[in-house]
Amino acid sequence: MRPRASYRVSHFLPPLLLVLGGGVVGSLTALSDFFISLFNVLPTLLLLLGGAFCSAYGRVRQVALLLVVYLAYYQLDTQVDYYQAEGVVREDAGLVFHLVSLLLPMLYGLYGCWEERTHLLQDFVARGAVLLALLGVVVALGSSYPDAVLGFIGKVHWSWLHGSWMRLVQLAYLAFAAALVALMLVYWRQPRPQHAAQLLGLLGVLWMMPKVFMLPHALHVMSSMVMLALTASVAHEAYQMAFRDELTGLPGRRALNERLRRLGRNYVLAMTDVDHFKKFNDTYGHDVGDQVLRLVASRLRKVGGGGKAYRYGGEEFTILFSGKTMDECMPHLEAVRQAIEQYQMQLRDQGARPKNDDAGRAKRGAAGGQSVSVTISIGVAERDAEQRTPEEVIKAADQALYSAKSAGRNRVFRHGENRRGAVRVKRTPA
Ligand code: GH3
Ligand code: MG
Ligand code: MG
Repeated sequence: MRPRASYRVSHFLPPLLLVLGGGVVGSLTALSDFFISLFNVLPTLLLLLGGAFCSAYGRVRQVALLLVVYLAYYQLDTQVDYYQAEGVVREDAGLVFHLVSLLLPMLYGLYGCWEERTHLLQDFVARGAVLLALLGVVVALGSSYPDAVLGFIGKVHWSWLHGSWMRLVQLAYLAFAAALVALMLVYWRQPRPQHAAQLLGLLGVLWMMPKVFMLPHALHVMSSMVMLALTASVAHEAYQMAFRDELTGLPGRRALNERLRRLGRNYVLAMTDVDHFKKFNDTYGHDVGDQVLRLVASRLRKVGGGGKAYRYGGEEFTILFSGKTMDECMPHLEAVRQAIEQYQMQLRDQGARPKNDDAGRAKRGAAGGQSVSVTISIGVAERDAEQRTPEEVIKAADQALYSAKSAGRNRVFRHGENRRGAVRVKRTPA
């Protein structure tokens, strides 16, 4: 069973800011010379730097999208330069503009939906072949029969579909609509920063196209921002891979280590471990074990008192309370322990039945579906004169966890608490 990723606002935030920023700056009629020079070179720079960056991460799809946006930008920029220099549009402006407004969403949508393959070179060659074949046919037709091509694009027109706001040919809007729906489905099936960025990038391009000749900076600014959003989404995913645990969606061990380096003087750290999890895996199988870890993680994420949960590794989780004392945190940890104990987890997978029939009968819930439950043990320690470094606090919390396990599991123990629940008080020298 593959873990299901969840939809997140954070996937959309960076591309949204970039595309919105592109819309605002692109709408300005006057820009300072510095920004004009910057946006004149930015698309080319982004193609090179972004392309190299995405290639280094094996993100061929993003390279293809950057290339499509850049090719469209390049064609339109040539036309806009002529228009701004001569005051009239070039002879082939209509043909080029309509072809770009049609091919851009088509190719962008196609590459955006085209899943990356494991063999990068094959993937790159296949995408390149499609691009060359399509552009070859279009350029050949456009240069041999420009009037016929232009006539065909303009002829497809349904009056019932027409809106007075439309500035592009109807076919182009249909291509944009199809690409948008396809990219929405891609995000819906696999919610990832890259899929969110390519979706918002298409919206940016849709905003830009009708304004290419109307606003002096719309083309340069929006092309740059869309390319930046596409590149940034690869960095976003790389960050997630490094700092987020894929199975549970919680921040992982690296994120915890980063956080521990930036902690103040007062904090409480709880080490949490699922009880008898090896036996659970043996009984229900590893896939069900994974599902349960996700459900346990989802409960730990909701711990109160400002605690933040991390997956430490395996079936162990860490909860960190910054700026808190042990007494403030204990009720929240006890609450989360109880919540997990009482949590009847409904399993989704039909194949996930217990291997053992008796265990299966005992565990099946009233709803008819299979429900299971687990318990957790928690060891808690706080930073004090005795444990000064994060490593020492983790070690102390681990010792408390060990005591909680020895005392019968499914309980919360403080550092220094013994099996009978008494807290050892350190005697201070007189
Ligand atoms: P205790 O109550 O003493 O903690 O017993 P335990 O069986 O939970 O302890 P132990 O550390 O021996 O076993 C941990 C088990 O957790 C071993 C491994 O099968 C399981 N485990 C670790 N990581 C994963 C994981 O990502 N998925 C699944 N399904 N199981 C995991
Ligand atoms: Mg363990
Ligand atoms: Mg365990």
